Amino acid sequence: MNLLEANEQLYYIASCDPCKRAVEIDLAAMIQRFGWDYDLDKLRPHLRCTRCGRRRIIITTLWKQATTTTSLKAQILKGSEPR
Ligand SMILES: [Zn+2]
Repeated sequence: MNLLEANEQLYYIASCDPCKRAVEIDLAAMIQRFGWDYDLDKLRPHLRCTRCGRRRIIITTLWKQATTTTSLKAQILKGSEPR
């Protein structure tokens, strides 16, 4: 999945394991920086905690769509894999 798709479909939450700080990553800003076709999975190594400076970041992604049966079916039909 690239950043453009991610920005449309996901909330991308980065949590710091040592200090428990959690922020939603502004994917629109990431698109500005890396380009819309940048792979979402490549983003994680760039992330660093702004409080403690460590890189032990845990990613949580939340679907923006309500996970009703209908939207789940739509995702399956589109061929996207659940994470
Ligand atoms: Zn931290």
